[in-house]
Amino acid sequence: MKKLGFGLMRLPVFDGNSKAIDIETVKKMADRFMENGFTYFDTAAPYHNGMSENAFKEAVAERYPRDSYTITDKLSLFMINSAEEIPSFFERQLTNLGVDYLDYYLLHSLNRNTFEKAEKFGAFEFAFRKKNEGKIKHVGFSFHDSPEVLDKILTAHPEVEFVQLQINYLDWEDKNIQSRRCYETAVKHGKKILVMEPVKGGALANIPKAAVDLLKSVRPDISVASWAIRFAASLENVYMVLSGMSNIAQVDDNLSFMKDFSPLSDKEKETVMQAADIIRNSIAVPCTSCRYCVDGCPQKIAIPDYFGVYNEFKRFEESRLWNAKNDYKNISKNNGKASDCIKCGLCEKRCPQNISIRKYLEEIAHTFE
Ligand code: SF4
Ligand code: SF4
Repeated sequence: MKKLGFGLMRLPVFDGNSKAIDIETVKKMADRFMENGFTYFDTAAPYHNGMSENAFKEAVAERYPRDSYTITDKLSLFMINSAEEIPSFFERQLTNLGVDYLDYYLLHSLNRNTFEKAEKFGAFEFAFRKKNEGKIKHVGFSFHDSPEVLDKILTAHPEVEFVQLQINYLDWEDKNIQSRRCYETAVKHGKKILVMEPVKGGALANIPKAAVDLLKSVRPDISVASWAIRFAASLENVYMVLSGMSNIAQVDDNLSFMKDFSPLSDKEKETVMQAADIIRNSIAVPCTSCRYCVDGCPQKIAIPDYFGVYNEFKRFEESRLWNAKNDYKNISKNNGKASDCIKCGLCEKRCPQNISIRKYLEEIAHTFE
């Protein structure tokens, strides 16, 4: 199978409303993807506020034979309050997707806390029961925590077939994310690896000029984003790299270098690590815009949107202050302000990037209000 997967979490939408997916454009994107021999799609119940699974049904399941594509969905334990809810959650997913079995099923976003919940609810046992019934072909989990926690989970559940990890060249040596050590832990346990966030939520497509200049000096012919996807796909034990594509141009760009994929050369690997150093020095908040923090916030604060504005501002400092203040004001019209934060900490428990959200919201309130 080709190593590029279509992540259905950042689809094109109308008027910035994440539920209002532009399904005709998604159909065109899916067609382009399939025509070029790619078959792997990835979704989850919370994506697009519950509408991503349905978009897959309309764009792919209702238009292509079942054996022509591969679909991955996830058991999002943070949306489930008891073991009894799991079977109906799963059945609803099959209905939403318009399929009668899944190729891959992941326990979604495991970390030290959600792992405890998974054990308490018998989530692994449920997934393997469904595998025995032929409703799931392969069982794994996506993961956001330390290599030590990953080792503990894989030791407790050697039956798991694959792991989905956050791997990108910026997080490879990051002290918080520890991509490299997580990758090595999965390899030690002999697991297939799927990669999420290779472009870090789009951040590695929009990097500082000095980093762009460096990459272009080595390969002027390829896009900045392509370096990020090729980095992940070049790792020996990586089976699939997901890209959350948002428009046809991104699909075309990804296909241009993944159709006949060539791994990074030694010189390219060295260059990309130098670019990572430049980028690391320019990012204020390492948010990937996954939006896991938003749902539980009692103050309805648009956390990732404020972080986006803040990062942009920090990158250009004073020259962007007026625009950034304006952007901030527009977002806060329909959402809680950064200063509305009551510091309950719910968001930080959900953040896969371990970001000190409360601390940054204080800085943002101070800067923009
Ligand atoms: S700590 Fe602040 S931002 Fe986070 S969930 Fe609570 S109120 Fe919302
Ligand atoms: S703050 Fe964390 S949970 Fe919220 S969108 Fe950013 S990375 Fe995701």
